[in-house]
Amino acid sequence: MNKKFNLENLVRNNIRGLKPYRSARDDFNTGILLDANENSFGSPVENDLELNRYPMPYQEKLRSKIADFRKVDQQNVFVGVGSDEAIDLLFRIFCSPGKDKIIINPPTYGMYKVSANINNVRIDEILLTEDFQLQTDKILNKVTDFTKLIFVCSPNNPTANNIDRNDIIDLIQNFDGLVVVDEAYIDFSEQDSFAEEVKNYPNLVVLQTLSKAFGLAGIRLGIAIADPVVISYMLKVKAPYNVNKLTSSVALKAFDEIEKVQKNIQHINTEKQRVLSALEGLDQIVKVFPSDANFLLFRVENALEVYKKLAQAGVIIRYRGNEPRCENCLRLTIGTAQENDRFLEALREILSKS
Ligand SMILES: *Cc1c(COP(=O)(O)O)cnc(C)c1O
Repeated sequence: MNKKFNLENLVRNNIRGLKPYRSARDDFNTGILLDANENSFGSPVENDLELNRYPMPYQEKLRSKIADFRKVDQQNVFVGVGSDEAIDLLFRIFCSPGKDKIIINPPTYGMYKVSANINNVRIDEILLTEDFQLQTDKILNKVTDFTKLIFVCSPNNPTANNIDRNDIIDLIQNFDGLVVVDEAYIDFSEQDSFAEEVKNYPNLVVLQTLSKAFGLAGIRLGIAIADPVVISYMLKVKAPYNVNKLTSSVALKAFDEIEKVQKNIQHINTEKQRVLSALEGLDQIVKVFPSDANFLLFRVENALEVYKKLAQAGVIIRYRGNEPRCENCLRLTIGTAQENDRFLEALREILSKS
């Protein structure tokens, strides 16, 4: 445990004293409900979700389902409109605009920087090492009284690898702000989630999402797992009805279909190995990086040109060559066997002509 950590001191003054919006459903949720200016005549669209009524502000049922799955308590779980909402809320709760700072570790997920910029929060960048691991000493040396959050993405996007668990724990134990571990790809990984560690570390926030392994990017459901005090601030600051009924209804069903989710994860990981071997067999592929996610990062001669030619052939992947340490790198999401074969076919064709 980090003895110097004090969450209440970390929270912005205006948020600590915030009186949250009280919705009609905070007072009563049964009876003849004529208190929220809803339309008692119903929605014009057939549906058994009572869409004429506002959703539950605190999503207790969904949060408790997620908590059971991740072996934490409902009080440890926040749900929002994608991970993006959780990231934005952390900035709004802990970082005073124009004053506070965060640390990120490029090459990494672009949203931390965008969200920091939107909130006028300064960013210190400490690059990952050549093999895409944290430089923990450099990170801790960069910390000032204004540093409120350190973002670690594991498995990391776009590099695909796990970040060393001991390095993350080192940060949590030696930083007096919050360490945010983004586990968007954790279910593809051999590595254990940090979710249960929130019981040991009040300055740890774990981000997860239904957008990747669960195959539900379209419903926009993001998850934060943390100490109940952090979660209570997130619930206080969020928009009252952030998660809508269509989303929560589908999300709840997904947790009853875990076998399907696991089967898809296995398929994707098997396909990943197959594509990785195929790529390694090609002369112009300089390197395929190890992956614990549902995508591969690889280095190829003339990457930008290869990327453009693939697009011309109708196969769209991501050029990451502008990211630090990612010169000539492309990022490929693993698709179905058929999609992956189309990619490999197009790539072979392009490389044979170059
Ligand atoms: C895809 C991804 C997410 C997911 O964001 P959502 O808003 O939940 O869809 C979060 N973090 C990382 C690193 C990602 O790559």
